[in-house]
Amino acid sequence: MNPYDIPDHPVIVNMERTGYPDGKEPPMPHCPVCGAECETIYRNRSGESVGCDVCMNTLDAWDAPECFPEKEDL
Ligand SMILES: [Zn+2]
Repeated sequence: MNPYDIPDHPVIVNMERTGYPDGKEPPMPHCPVCGAECETIYRNRSGESVGCDVCMNTLDAWDAPECFPEKEDL
């Protein structure tokens, strides 16, 4: 028998009421760079957070002039 099947277990009550076992919603993740609530953060190779899905965007490198610095020298 699965102990989590007991109907009146407080964890089950909390799960039904709030969706979380302890009845409290966990704190939302916030970007350490811009402070916005975010779903994804980006880190560089050193493990430093450099931004999130809110304050950063991705761009096709073929469309980014900074990816072709040799062209700017011409
Ligand atoms: Zn951010």
